[in-house]
Amino acid sequence: MNISKLTAVLENEPKFRYAQINKALFQDYISSWDKASSLPKVLRERLIEECPLEIKAEVFKTDSGHRSEKALITLEDGEMIETVLIRQRGKKVEPGLKKATGENVASARNTVCVSSQVGCPLNCAFCATGAAGFKRNLSAEEIVEQVVFWARRLKEEGKDEKIDNVVFMGMGEPFLNYKEFIKAAKFLNNPETLNIGARRLSVSTAGITEGIKRLAGESLQMNLAISLHAPNDNLRYELMPIVKKYLLKDIFRAVDDYIRKTGRRVMFEYLMIKGINDGDREALELTGLMKKPLYMVNLIPYNATGKFRPSDRERIESFREILEENGVPATVRLSFGAEIGAACGQLRGKKK
Ligand code: SF4
Repeated sequence: MNISKLTAVLENEPKFRYAQINKALFQDYISSWDKASSLPKVLRERLIEECPLEIKAEVFKTDSGHRSEKALITLEDGEMIETVLIRQRGKKVEPGLKKATGENVASARNTVCVSSQVGCPLNCAFCATGAAGFKRNLSAEEIVEQVVFWARRLKEEGKDEKIDNVVFMGMGEPFLNYKEFIKAAKFLNNPETLNIGARRLSVSTAGITEGIKRLAGESLQMNLAISLHAPNDNLRYELMPIVKKYLLKDIFRAVDDYIRKTGRRVMFEYLMIKGINDGDREALELTGLMKKPLYMVNLIPYNATGKFRPSDRERIESFREILEENGVPATVRLSFGAEIGAACGQLRGKKK
């Protein structure tokens, strides 16, 4: 898909064409201009020539029962990026129904995880993307394209479902591509395009403090997560070489400023890696850091990519209990699709 020439194509068209095209692309999710029946034929023909809508992708299903799918998208220059659709199915209590019948109604929630770079320069020791090195930043359009791809897929399935959440947690460090990341986030949030609520957009950073400060000054009130993964700089340095530049004390200062300015809570993500960062000692050390208002911990079962192994279920539960007993709210994230190489960068690595 490449709509970079759209402005030039629409130069002599009436203003309302933009609204028609936004609706066709980002609400009806057409994958061919032939389907944009509100547009004149001659304009459609020009758009077919100059603004191709095809998204080249291969989809991999998981058989884990968690209903996540991963796509490997090939960009115009041949580079490949990963994006994931996570389909969560739960029970939603409809207040009216509950009163009348006591029934629960199943709810569907679709979350898309997007990449913000081709590869990643941060080279975290546990990450396949980092190991493969950095190629280039993605444009805002290439980031949005990943969401559009999944929205089209849901539409093709004929279900009355949409993309509810978008998380910037795929390949790359979004704050090292801040301009395009925030442009994409604002585009996704725009009521005239995809109209995804700011509170349904989340960004995760390894702790780039300049990005945390910039996000605090944005009018877009999206969610912030910090990839922490260790309760001290020494252990963190073993896992994430970026720590050399961004120490925990600097990250916490930036996060505290962010909370003061926005009043929003911040999620600290903690990968559970067997025998490395998952002991009682680390849990207690983490407790000492996290006892602040609006701090939350999300423990993430690790998808093994090489030298590290995932923590056992029981260990994760004990770790969580230590946090909770000490007054730190902590959740455990469902692990999606270890079978398809769902850890970021695994699938691209295999293909390459
Ligand atoms: S974990 Fe994230 S920040 Fe670290 S190398 Fe992988 S993609 Fe980059």
